[in-house]
Amino acid sequence: MVQNSRCSACGQLQKLKLTGIYARWYPYGSESIGYQLNLCDECVQSRLVPVLKATYNGEAENGTCPSCHESGLPRLEYTWLTLYARNEDAVRCTVAFCERCAERYRVQFTSYGKKLEDRARPQQASKPAYWQALGIDPRQAS
Ligand SMILES: [Zn+2]
Ligand SMILES: [Zn+2]
Repeated sequence: MVQNSRCSACGQLQKLKLTGIYARWYPYGSESIGYQLNLCDECVQSRLVPVLKATYNGEAENGTCPSCHESGLPRLEYTWLTLYARNEDAVRCTVAFCERCAERYRVQFTSYGKKLEDRARPQQASKPAYWQALGIDPRQAS
């Protein structure tokens, strides 16, 4: 039995390779939170596609939540997604909602997903002591 072929959300065994979804968000003043989900095609259609379409309709740019359509929001909550569809390169995208909708949206990750290790934001990356001892600042490397 191939374990990876069970959809994280609906729990159905799938013959086709699932779409891997990595989600991460950055609560203000605390460590980032990351989860991974594997979704079947049906769950991608029902859970992911509407959210991505809503995000890309441009409402978020004007301070309107694409989910509940509340407008005049001072700021939106962002969730960063990395999507691995079968046989395709990774696609990165961001979804933005009001606080309430963001919380509701993230529940699927926190309840069905697998928690990922915290990963520091790139600008907070530590300098490896090995290179520093050699007089090299890794941030200057390309
Ligand atoms: Zn599913
Ligand atoms: Zn909303």
